[in-house]
Amino acid sequence: MENEKILKKTDPEIFDVIKGETNREHSTLELIASENFCSEAVLAALGSVLTNKYAEGLPKKRYYGGCEFVDIGETLAIERAKQLFGADHANVQPHSGTQANMIAYYALANPGDTIMGLNLSHGGHLSHGHPINFSGKYFKVFHYGVNPQTEVVDYVELRKLALEHKPKIIVSGASAHPRFLYFDKFQEICDEVGAFQVADIAHTAGLVAAGLHPSPIPYADVVTTTTHKTLRGPRGAIIMCKAKHAEAIDKTTFPGMQGGPLEHVIAAKAVAFKEALTDDFKAYQKQVVANAKALADEIAKLGYRLVAGGTDTHLMLVDLRSKNITGRDAENALGKSGITVNRNTIPFDPQKPFVTSGIRLGTPALTTRGMKEFEMKKIAGLIDKVLSNIDNEKVSESVKAEIKQLTESFPLYKERRRIYDTL
Ligand SMILES: *Cc1c(COP(=O)(O)O)cnc(C)c1O
Repeated sequence: MENEKILKKTDPEIFDVIKGETNREHSTLELIASENFCSEAVLAALGSVLTNKYAEGLPKKRYYGGCEFVDIGETLAIERAKQLFGADHANVQPHSGTQANMIAYYALANPGDTIMGLNLSHGGHLSHGHPINFSGKYFKVFHYGVNPQTEVVDYVELRKLALEHKPKIIVSGASAHPRFLYFDKFQEICDEVGAFQVADIAHTAGLVAAGLHPSPIPYADVVTTTTHKTLRGPRGAIIMCKAKHAEAIDKTTFPGMQGGPLEHVIAAKAVAFKEALTDDFKAYQKQVVANAKALADEIAKLGYRLVAGGTDTHLMLVDLRSKNITGRDAENALGKSGITVNRNTIPFDPQKPFVTSGIRLGTPALTTRGMKEFEMKKIAGLIDKVLSNIDNEKVSESVKAEIKQLTESFPLYKERRRIYDTL
């Protein structure tokens, strides 16, 4: 309360930004698959004086004095990450998922070496070798894709390409692949061609931690993940690896790629990992998956085609072509009605990446609010209502009214919003 008061007095414009965003998060339906709502405990750690501290180096091996408290925080984050995923080694300093991947590549390969990753337009990530990203500029990249029939990663094709191009690294992982990825199959190919596997579980980390998605930890040389997606922590990332790569990963993180670690974010990661070690978190992840299945089933019933025929995870890709709408138009229309999604290419998309034929829907954020299968069915109906009546103001207004009711029944950051309102 006091903090918020001080902020409002010092900088009313930024106070309004935070208040506005808090209300937006509460009053809309967040279906962006890479977003989530972290806990008040995580926010408290983020907004702490730990941000003041320089701590280059690692716990007990710092280049600055006065690190006795941040050492404890970072050690807790490391130990909890290792426990959560069963990893040999963890570095909790990477500032973001992209930076974690950068560190992983530079720890295992040199500029100019060949890497392979999933094609962006088949569900991969920019940092898996896209030409406009550092990964595509500094490495020689060959992309693998999904099978045109099944729309899941084509391991036979991947093996063929790997034998042909002899990559130093094969990146396994995706941002928009609704089915399981099998890291053991990736590893077989890596072993055959002498490549390292970098598994990027940015999206599925929460599911992996809860045992609901195959884990790459027994196989991959290095595993990177963001901490803010299904894992529900602060914005950031971590890297885990086999003991033999520990030194290379740590040195490439600092001084290789980063300067001082963000100790306030690291403390918030520790809090999130503690939360993720509970049975409540496992139950939450189970509900995320159940909700995705319920949403996918209902969307399919309403006549939409789902990429890869559905989902095993927290997300799905909806092919809008049967309804004659583009991803861009769908994203805009849904946004106006209070449903936040992102347009997304579908495999072999005839539309440009800026337009797309699909949208990506994910359930982590809505599940954090406590919504279940019943609400998913209802939301599928609302999505269809909007998409079947694009540019119809009346429909948009009536959907908005339904969303207002729904979001009021599943309040988010209630106490925070109450405080903002009283100031
Ligand atoms: C989100 C994501 C990232 C990047 O995370 P940033 O923190 O936005 O840099 C990396 N890899 C995959 C697969 C992702 O989905």
